[in-house]
Amino acid sequence: MSAATFSVTSRRLAGTIAYAALTGLVVAAVGLVPLTDYAMHILVQTASYSIAVFGLTVVLGLCGQINLAQAAFFGFGAYAVGLGTADLHLNFWIALALGAGVALVMGAFLGMTTLRLGGHYLAMVTISFQQIVTLIMVNWIPVTHGPDGVGNIRRPAMFESAHAFLGLCVLAMALVGYVVWRLPQTPLGRSMRAVRDNELAAGVAGVNVYRVKVAAFALSAALGGIGGGFFAGGFAYVSPDQFSFAESIVFITMTLLGGVASPVGALIGTALLIVLPESLRFLKSVPGLYLAIYGLSIILIIRYMPDGIWGFVQHRIKRWLAPPPFADAAAELTLAPAKADAPMVLEVTNLSKHFGGLKAVDDVSFSVRRGDVHALIGPNGSGKTTTLNVLSGIYVASAGRVMLCGRDVTLLPPHARTAAGMGRTFQNIRLFRSMTALENVIIGAEHPGNDIGSGHAALVERARAALAFVGLEARAQELVTGFSYGHQRLIEIARALAGNPTLLLLDEPAAGLNSTEKLGLRDLLKRIAAKGLTILIIDHDMTLVTEVAERITVLNFGRCIADGVAADVLRQPAVIEAYLGSEPDAPDLA
Ligand code: ADP
Ligand code: MG
Repeated sequence: MSAATFSVTSRRLAGTIAYAALTGLVVAAVGLVPLTDYAMHILVQTASYSIAVFGLTVVLGLCGQINLAQAAFFGFGAYAVGLGTADLHLNFWIALALGAGVALVMGAFLGMTTLRLGGHYLAMVTISFQQIVTLIMVNWIPVTHGPDGVGNIRRPAMFESAHAFLGLCVLAMALVGYVVWRLPQTPLGRSMRAVRDNELAAGVAGVNVYRVKVAAFALSAALGGIGGGFFAGGFAYVSPDQFSFAESIVFITMTLLGGVASPVGALIGTALLIVLPESLRFLKSVPGLYLAIYGLSIILIIRYMPDGIWGFVQHRIKRWLAPPPFADAAAELTLAPAKADAPMVLEVTNLSKHFGGLKAVDDVSFSVRRGDVHALIGPNGSGKTTTLNVLSGIYVASAGRVMLCGRDVTLLPPHARTAAGMGRTFQNIRLFRSMTALENVIIGAEHPGNDIGSGHAALVERARAALAFVGLEARAQELVTGFSYGHQRLIEIARALAGNPTLLLLDEPAAGLNSTEKLGLRDLLKRIAAKGLTILIIDHDMTLVTEVAERITVLNFGRCIADGVAADVLRQPAVIEAYLGSEPDAPDLA
C-alpha cells in the first residue's frame, strides 16, 4: 500500500471515528436532556423525514434521476408499521422490514419499467405512481382504514418511551446518514455519479447504466420506507394526507434546499423545512398556498443556489478539504494486448445506421488488424461519429455485424463492449464534470474486463499510471473542470486507457487543440501504438493521419468509398474528389 493510499485510509478512519463520537453525543443528549413534547415532535419528524430525504440524496443527488413519489415510499413504510403493529400485532422490526422491503421492490419495479425512458417520462410516471398509492390508501378501506387513518401504532418493546424512541430514530438516521455519506466513494456510488454527470460516457467507460439506475431507485425507495416506519412509530397515527403528492414535493424541496448531493445538506434542508413551516403555521390556513410556496422555493433554489445551502458552504471550504497531490511516483502503465490469437481486432460487416430516411451509415465494411493504427476519414457529416457510436453500442445498428476479436458484439450494450475490450473517447469531450481527474480515470479502470487485482488501492494505482502516461499525474486530485481543453482530452484518453482496451476508438482527438498540443498528441498516439495497442482514429488533420496511420477507410455520405493501405487510399481519385468536392480548404492529400 502506498503512502498516499494510507493517508486516504487514515483520513477516512478519522472521519468515521469523529462521526461515531458525534452520533453518540447526540443520541445521549436527546435521550437524557429533558425536552418539551413540541421539541420531541419536531426532532422525531426531522429524524424520520431525513432518512427518506437521504434516499433522494441517492437517487437525485448521486444518480441524477427524478423521483416524485418519495412520499408514497415513505407511506409504504408508515402503513406497514401502522397496520402491522396495530392490526396484525407484528413486532415493530418485522413490520419495518416488511415496509422497507415492499418499498424496495416497488422502487426497483418502477425503476425497471420506466428508467429506460428517462427524463420527463420518469417524472410523469413517478407522479402517477404517487397518485395511485394515495388513491389506494384512501379507498381500500377494509385494509387501510381509508381517510380515517391508522391509530394505536406500536413501538419496539425497548423503546416505548418517547425519549427512548427519539434516541432510536436519531441513531437510525445517523446510521443511514453514514452509509449515504460513504456511498459516493464506493464503486456503486462512483458509478451513480458517473451516470449523473454523463450517462453516455458512463456506459462507454464500463458502467452498467441501467442496473445502476435501478439500484439507486430501489435504494432510495427502501430508505423512504425505513423513514416512514420510524415516522409511524413516532406519531402512533398515520393517515393518507401525510403521504400525498404535496409531501413528495416537500421531500424534493428539502433535498434541493440543503444540497442535493450530500446527507449533510439533506439534514439541513429537512430540519429547516420542518421548523420553518411550524413557525409559519398561518400559511396552512389558505389552501394551496403552502404548495405554491414550496414550488416557488424550488424554482428559486435551482436558479440561485443550485448546490443548496451545504453545497454553497462546501464551495467555500473546499480548499481545506482537497486532498494533497500524491507524494510517490506512479507506476508504469501496462497495456496488455489480451487474446492475441485473432489477427483481426475489429471486423465490421455491412454495417448500417439509418435515422428515419437518412442513411448516416450505409452498408459499410472494413477490418482493423491487430497492432495497426487505422484511420477513419471523410468529409463532415459523412457518418464517422455515427459509425463509432454503433461500434461502441451507443446506437443499435440498423443492419450489419460488428465482431471484436472474433466475438460478435453487435447487440451488446456499451458497458459490455467495454468489458469485451473496447475503449473510446468522444468528439465533444465527455468527462464526469463533478469529479477529479483521478476519479474520472478510476471509473474507466473499474470494469469486469480489466484484470488489475482487487481493491481500491489497485484502482488508484492503475488510474495514476494512466494519468502519468498522458503526463497529468501531478494534477490527479484536481477537479476536471479546472483543466484546459487540451488536458481534458488527455484525461479522456487516460480514462479509456485505464480500462486496458484491446481496441481504442478515438473521435477527432486533435480537434480544438493548438499546434503545440497537437504535437504532444501525435507523440502520445505513437507511444500508445508502440505499446502494441490497436487504434481506430477519426481525424481531419491529414498530417496527423498520414504520420500515424497504416491503413485508412474513407467514408462519404455514409458509404465506404475507399479502404486500404494509407498511401494507396490517399491517391485514389474518388477520395480526392470527396474532399475537394465538399470542403473548400481541403487538405493536401498528396
Ligand atoms: P461525421 O462524424 O462524419 O461528421 P456524423 O456521423 O456525426 O458525421 O453524422 C452523419 C449524419 O448523420 C449527419 O447527417 C448527421 O446529421 C446525422 N446524424 C447523426 N446523428 C444523428 C441522430 N442522432 N439523429 C439523426 N441524425 C443524425
Ligand atoms: Mg464526427
